[in-house]
Amino acid sequence: MTSTSSPTRVAFVTGGARGIGLAIGQWFLADGWQVALIDNNAETLFPAATALGQPERVLPLHCDVSIPEQVAQAVQAVVERFGRIDALVNNAGVAVFKRIGATSFEEWRYVMNTNLDGPFICTQAVAPVMLRNGGGAVVNIASISGLRASTMRVAYGTSKGALIHLTKQQAIELGDAGIRVNAVAPGPVETEMAKQVHDETIRRDYFDAIPLRRYGSTEEIASAVGYLCSPAASYINGQVLAVDGGFDASGVGLPTLRKNS
Ligand code: NAD
Repeated sequence: MTSTSSPTRVAFVTGGARGIGLAIGQWFLADGWQVALIDNNAETLFPAATALGQPERVLPLHCDVSIPEQVAQAVQAVVERFGRIDALVNNAGVAVFKRIGATSFEEWRYVMNTNLDGPFICTQAVAPVMLRNGGGAVVNIASISGLRASTMRVAYGTSKGALIHLTKQQAIELGDAGIRVNAVAPGPVETEMAKQVHDETIRRDYFDAIPLRRYGSTEEIASAVGYLCSPAASYINGQVLAVDGGFDASGVGLPTLRKNS
């Protein structure tokens, strides 16, 4: 009797060395997938991959998502090792939080290179591999800052707003071929990136502005991403899921009024 068991699915997760990306990698591992962790920080990436303790199911690849040649090499390495790619999570991202007048063109380009060019380059490189097995799922990690404008987010917020539109462009073109593309827009999450840019006052302001009155965890973002890559989300395409404790919904939810209620 021949085996009819389905092949092990493979996820390609960018920015997978730490924070939200690492939690997404762990979600896929717990769900039985094999995982390629892509990151441009080798010092964090290789120890993080080793700590997962599953070398046969985890492939760490040192790669900058904004450089097409490096991405092409990484995709090739995943194909050689695992033979397929079923999910791509464009999670690698950087933040520069400065006002318009203080943001240099180099800083603007630095943010766009990773946050916008990266998902364009990676999706273009991974899609043909997905199509060899009939399709797959892409999730772009945007941000609440791509849905709502905010002070000091000229580069970061614009990159994430553009990524949300790129998601829709990708969803309509790649959907025809069997690849679903969605975005997750996290609110503030406890990671190294958040520590760098949120001081104590900003943290208090967030607690006031978010109906659930707390930051999200990396696991809460990862489970939303995992869901969008799973068969349970098989008819969801071109959507933005805010995973933000109600922050986006609270447009005129003035903190003072909420405190008085
Ligand atoms: P993080 O800084 O902890 O991790 C980001 C990872 O991406 C790092 O390991 C970094 O080395 C890697 N990376 C950066 N540039 C890269 C490049 N060019 N090529 C390959 N890898 C690169 O950040 P995080 O908080 O885990 O954020 C992950 C994603 O979630 C980002 O896209 C970020 O914008 C988004 N996000 C984070 C928050 C938050 O509050 N932490 C909120 C909303 C959205």
